[in-house]
Amino acid sequence: MNKVRYSPLPQQFADVDAVFDGIRELVASGDFTLGKAVGEFELAFAEKMGMKHASGVGSGTDSLKLPLKALGVGPGDEVITCANTFIATVGAINELGARPVFVDCDDTFCLRAEEIEAAITPRTKAIMPVHLTGEVANMPAIMEIATRHGLPVVEDACQSMMSELDGKKAGSWGIAAGFSMHPLKLINVWGDAGIIVTDDDAMNANLRMLRNHGLANRDEVKILGYNTRLDSLQAIVGSWMLGQIDEIVAGRREAAAFYDRGFADTPELRIPERRQSVLHTYLLYIVFAEERDALLEHCLQSGIEAKIHYPVPLYQQEGLARFGYRAGDFPTTDRHAREMITFPVDSYLSRAEQEHVIGTVRSFYESRRT
Ligand SMILES: *Cc1c(COP(=O)(O)O)cnc(C)c1O
Repeated sequence: MNKVRYSPLPQQFADVDAVFDGIRELVASGDFTLGKAVGEFELAFAEKMGMKHASGVGSGTDSLKLPLKALGVGPGDEVITCANTFIATVGAINELGARPVFVDCDDTFCLRAEEIEAAITPRTKAIMPVHLTGEVANMPAIMEIATRHGLPVVEDACQSMMSELDGKKAGSWGIAAGFSMHPLKLINVWGDAGIIVTDDDAMNANLRMLRNHGLANRDEVKILGYNTRLDSLQAIVGSWMLGQIDEIVAGRREAAAFYDRGFADTPELRIPERRQSVLHTYLLYIVFAEERDALLEHCLQSGIEAKIHYPVPLYQQEGLARFGYRAGDFPTTDRHAREMITFPVDSYLSRAEQEHVIGTVRSFYESRRT
């Protein structure tokens, strides 16, 4: 065993004749813009999520931006979100001229519900919890706070498609939720794509105009919008992937359980609590490691493509300096940046590859102990 790759994409797309058949049909039809392929994918996705509506957009970022825009978020407004998220969450808020107001996470990698209230100001316009890594944020508590303050909740479910808390899916709690289909997400398309779910008819009508220049129909511009339609080609790939989603989730969960067992007797590694109430989809398999940097180096040298999600906390990034946060503002986010390590996890990973990862980690710590 000399290499454990991170990305399963070449295996995922080894046999895609069915996708090319769909693309050939699309090209012959000329139905490129918000046509049959997009409509079919949206219907199937909404049904899979158990939601009334799904609207495809150009990226995961836009799947967050559009619901906020529909809620009237704009310059001078604040949106409460998590300090340790991926940049796209903040990008979506910032594109509307609003300000991200951060709350720290806990060891679920999602925001601490109990710290939300202290972050609410008269300018707060929405709460955007992020379901990170395949985990689910504490939505019952978040919805209770939001309801009490009359604030809408838009979920960033980009990393947690198909995850559940108390049998209820990530993305089904707030007024709307965005999912990404970027190649690193659960459903990977061949470029960028996102999809928004909602049960709210008015929100849905707004989203469908916002993604298509604000057009209500061919001749009427009802509002000012964007050009961020789901590409028909990506909808064909998305539909093909959606047909495999249960196996993808099952494969990730099996691989994660295998790691959990393999790492259980390595005291230098701490596995995050596996909550009974959560159906975790393991978009990322993350554990907390002692001597993390040395372990990462050892893994890379042993051919294992381990990663850090994310090495520099977002709130400390240069590009976000204007928001005025300082190192130390979010202690759990900071600790995670020092202790986290991500191992490859997906439905194509072999048990032999996982044994190599587990053995490499074990021998690293054994050599340190003696
Ligand atoms: C991937 C991701 C997004 C969306 O990113 P896109 O590249 O625009 O699809 C948003 N939030 C989080 C937490 C993500 O991981």
